[in-house]
Amino acid sequence: MVAYRSKVVERIELPARERRERALEEAGYNVFELPSEDVYIDLLTDSGTGAMSDAQWAALMRGDESYAGSRSFDELESAVAEVMGFSRVVPTHQGRGAENVLYGALLSDGDVVPNNTHFDTTRAHVANQGADPVDCPVAGARDPTADGEFKGNFSLERAREVVDDVGAERVPLVIQTITNNSAAGQPVSVENTRQVREFADRIDATFVIDACRFAENAAFVRRREDEFADYAIDEIAREQLRHADAVVMSGKKDGLANAGGFVATDDADLFERCKQRAILYEGFPTYGGMSGRDVAAMAVGLREAVEEGYVTDRLEEIQAFADLLEDAGVPVYTPPGGHAVYLDAGAALPHLDAADFPGQALVCELYREGGVRGVELGSFAFPDTDRPELVRLAVPRRTYHGEHFEHVADTAAAVLEKRESVSGLEVVSEPANPELRHFTAALAPLSD
Ligand SMILES: *Cc1c(COP(=O)(O)O)cnc(C)c1O
Repeated sequence: MVAYRSKVVERIELPARERRERALEEAGYNVFELPSEDVYIDLLTDSGTGAMSDAQWAALMRGDESYAGSRSFDELESAVAEVMGFSRVVPTHQGRGAENVLYGALLSDGDVVPNNTHFDTTRAHVANQGADPVDCPVAGARDPTADGEFKGNFSLERAREVVDDVGAERVPLVIQTITNNSAAGQPVSVENTRQVREFADRIDATFVIDACRFAENAAFVRRREDEFADYAIDEIAREQLRHADAVVMSGKKDGLANAGGFVATDDADLFERCKQRAILYEGFPTYGGMSGRDVAAMAVGLREAVEEGYVTDRLEEIQAFADLLEDAGVPVYTPPGGHAVYLDAGAALPHLDAADFPGQALVCELYREGGVRGVELGSFAFPDTDRPELVRLAVPRRTYHGEHFEHVADTAAAVLEKRESVSGLEVVSEPANPELRHFTAALAPLSD
């Protein structure tokens, strides 16, 4: 058993109700616009928001800021080799930098890219190269109540249809995202990864794994895939990742860092092409847009992410949080994924139509009631798709404890208690690009 004790503390405060009301109004009912000081429990994202360990802080002090040949880069290289099994690393400022570097090297106009589900920056980077991102989730992935051990899997059936449709020559790249962030953080089996490898070989495509949450995924695999019951987490991770030609990584997730990312591969030619693009967009290949200290902290974080105690505790924490919510009568996506609990706002606020944004209404009420910040991932974030009305409560790593999760569950229960009085919302101003509207659009309550 592993636990943490505090060496540094950060004071947080629940602002008075009137202040929360005013903050919500001033934010245009969009919690991305809230000052973090007005937020009590911040579950907006698990990206770069976790607590670093004492070992990471120590590494930070020893970071080598040399422009070229930094020792911190050597530390990253050996961490990536030992933990993930790849010999060549191109560091980048964060995950999307890695996506730009890698997908720019692999894609051109008119290509089509199957992925179990494109995360939003992945979708944008694939489209930015003139290619068409196509999601291939398995049946049930979008159903908050469907059973399934690996609801994050890549649907080979769907991908074959895509290839039959457009022809294999237009599909030079296949991506698998582990865990499947945009499908409620659901895990992907190693068996499924092997099948995607075979599929990619058959159509002569490059196979990339988006490995942002590779350690959480490995922990699920050990629990749910019999073959791996006796494996160590890092052994499972390497067994899964070795099937890929390259990985893209955000250090802000299972790098346990506040910044950073990289591309890793064993392919000398692909490495060279990525390196050249990285010099153009990120920085010299031994720092890649990060400070040396951030590279050093991420190298330590990668090793910690596959530690038995850490990742087991992580999954248990998420499961316990989901249980607290369920016990309080709050409908949640089941089974819970690896980095967040997703609330089913459609079931929580059945009197609101999709057009009235039940998810966003729930997000606003959670803040109004308890200073809790989550994020809507339903008809407000994804206009014109038939996604379920989900609200994500992402859990920053090693940051919150039992009493915080209890506060969130109590808050959600209090909102549901008076659900009939929760009104829908309408958009009053939005940016030109509809795919990015949930970050900056302003809303207003329909009852006003
Ligand atoms: C966060 C994330 C990215 C992008 O990483 P950033 O560090 O936020 O740029 C890419 N893919 C997945 C699955 C992610 O979760």
